[in-house]
Formats: sequence, structure tokens, C-alpha cells
Amino acid sequence: MLEVRKIYSVQKSRTTMEGAGVRLKRAFGQAHPKLDPFLLLDDFGSENPDDYIAGFPWHPHRGIETITYVLEGKVLHEDSLGNSGTIGSGDVQWMTAGSGIVHQELPEQSQGSMSGYQLWANLPSSQKMMDPRYRDVKKSDIPVVTLDDFVKVKIISGDLKGVKGPVQDIVTEPEYLDVSMNHHSKFDHNIDSTHNAFAYVIEGEGFFDNDKKQKIGKGNLIIYDDGDKVQITTEANKLRFLLISGKPIKEPVAWAGPIVMNTQEEIRIAFEEYRNGTFIKNQD
Ligand code: FE
Repeated sequence: MLEVRKIYSVQKSRTTMEGAGVRLKRAFGQAHPKLDPFLLLDDFGSENPDDYIAGFPWHPHRGIETITYVLEGKVLHEDSLGNSGTIGSGDVQWMTAGSGIVHQELPEQSQGSMSGYQLWANLPSSQKMMDPRYRDVKKSDIPVVTLDDFVKVKIISGDLKGVKGPVQDIVTEPEYLDVSMNHHSKFDHNIDSTHNAFAYVIEGEGFFDNDKKQKIGKGNLIIYDDGDKVQITTEANKLRFLLISGKPIKEPVAWAGPIVMNTQEEIRIAFEEYRNGTFIKNQD
């Protein structure tokens, strides 16, 4: 008998200013043993261009991966290595900053609504200084599995019913699912018992464990306790949420802005290198 994970905590995302003046909702933004290997989840949904137009001009990253999932709108991305491209509606960019990248992320629109998520996943010390890499995943490359006509799952990474998501070979074995449930439906999903898991509600409301004490709606983060599987059910309303899990790294976290290392000394070196122009490695 598989043990259903209970809810460890529920918290509402909070309005935060970031970048050059972007008003977003932060679901979480600190290292926590129940969220390890994930560090941050930002929800940048807004119908007001003033909230998003400033974007995130040139800034460095080291020691982490940033995973950007755009639901609505367009984000222009360019970096110090000469890469550039647009992340459009339904697309995902999985960027491994590794030893370092300097990039900017700017809305490629001046009106209309924008919605999407940026997740930060930590890298273990053995991979913090790996070569940077990108996986640009187009909407059409993301498989959709339909269960019993009531539950539709987009698999960005991980697998479901033998269908694998396009992002693979990441050391923390992340599973990133976008789950849409019809009303009066149930979604049972096994998650490796050694992994941490959380959900973030995009739309609608539902119950996120088998106690069914609390109906949870849009903008809430559900952090799961230990167990073998999650069980999510809906009643009269539909529900759409992100379900994300991964293998905890269990290492010390030294975090300063966009750089996350293991020690303060590594942070100091990163900023010193950024100042003196030696931040970017492997540029040949
Ligand atoms: Fe960034």
C-alpha cells in the first residue's frame, strides 16, 4: 500500500518587486529542507503591462538552473555567449547556469497579458561549475497524457504512463508536470519517496491530499510531506496546477541574489569575478 503524502504547509504567493521593476508573485524564495533542491518559484502573471514591461535586464547566474515556463505572452532571452531567442506561449526554457552566464529576460510585448513561471533548481557542488547549457523546449515537444478523460498532464520533465518529458539527464531528477483536472476527478501520482514535492495552483481549486480538509485555490503553494504518492481531487470546480518534485541535494546553501553556491567564499569569488570580467568561463 502506497502512502499518500500529507500537506506539510500551504502558503499564498506574495507580491514582490524584482528585476528592473517587475511586479510578480513569489510562491517561495528561500532554501527549505522540504523544498530542496528547489530555491524559488515566481509567478509572473499580470494583465497590466506596467507590472512586467521593465523585465530583467543583464544579470549573472551561477550555481543553479532557471526553468522558465511561459503560458501567455512572449519573453525575449539573450545572453553573453551570443544566444538569443523567444520563449513563447507554452514553451519552456531550461537553463543550466553552471559556472556562469550573464543574460537578460525581457517581455517581447508592450500590451496584453503575460503569464508564466520561473523556477530555480539548485545544483549540487559537483555540478555548480559545469558548462552552462540550454534546453529550449517548444510547446509542440511537450507530451500530453490524458487519464480517464478527466485529467490532462503536460510532461515537461519526468514520466507518466511510460511517456517521458523532453527535459532529461538532470542530476536532481526533477519532475515538472502541468496538470489540468476536470470537476469531480481524481489524480493519483507516484513520486519517489526520497524526493521532495510541491504544487502551485494556476487556476480553479481542489483538495491536495486525502484528508480533504482544505480546498486550495489559485496562487497557493502546497508543500508536501514525505510519502510515496500524491492524491489530488476536485469537486464542483476544475483545477490546474504545477506539480514539481526532485531529489534533495542536502548541502549548505550560500545565496546572494542570482548566485547560489555552497560557501560565502564562493559567493565572494563569484562577485569579484563578475566585477573584474572573469565570471564567464569556457568562452572558446
Ligand atoms: Fe535570470
